[in-house]
Amino acid sequence: MPIISILNPKGGSGKTTITTNLARSLHERGHKVLIVDSDPQGSARDWHAANEENPLPLVALDRANNVKSLPDVAAAYNFVMVDGAAKLEDMIAASIKITDFVFIPVTPSPYDLWAASDLVEFIKARQEVTDGKPAARFIISRAIAGTRLGDEIVTALAEQGLGVFGTHITQRQVYPQTASEGGTVFDSKNADALAEVNALTDEILAFID
Ligand code: ADP
Ligand code: MG
Repeated sequence: MPIISILNPKGGSGKTTITTNLARSLHERGHKVLIVDSDPQGSARDWHAANEENPLPLVALDRANNVKSLPDVAAAYNFVMVDGAAKLEDMIAASIKITDFVFIPVTPSPYDLWAASDLVEFIKARQEVTDGKPAARFIISRAIAGTRLGDEIVTALAEQGLGVFGTHITQRQVYPQTASEGGTVFDSKNADALAEVNALTDEILAFID
């Protein structure tokens, strides 16, 4: 039922990677999951088309107006995962209105965090008129393995006033490698990548409960 949107106007922050991996992770746990590609660039569509045996259904929504119909569609699924558009403000605004949760992938760079501040302000303004919906959190994406978040990142995160999940998605070859065949880390034997996607899934399920 819940609609989860993975949003960040910045390209390359890991939206599509995180959407597809989380969607598959939820599917592996027996949930019925729909992926919605709201980005006209169509990366999730390309990913889906690269694998005839993809176990997940995907629909493309290319107009902000169509996003409004998602709550009706969501009734037939346990989770709807919206892969966010880059730049397109009307698309992002439409998603924020219908979504239950927004997760914002950011690379561990203060510049990327600052670049997300307009989105964060937008979400906060929406929360004020809706009693807190959508609930939102950051996901640290493309982190360097074995390193902790620098103090400047922790400060920049705190300034944004949204929480952050403790699990980070690390920069790993297995993400683009599996994506190129229309897959996810669940099609690999990379135990570290599987562990982080599963840990993030656990955190998200606890958060939205
Ligand atoms: P977005 O959807 O925000 O534009 P993508 O998920 O498409 O971001 O990621 C941009 C590029 O970076 C893609 O080539 C993708 O394969 C790569 N990438 C994303 N996340 C990771 C990661 N954790 N490790 C390695 N490469 C990544
Ligand atoms: Mg994308």
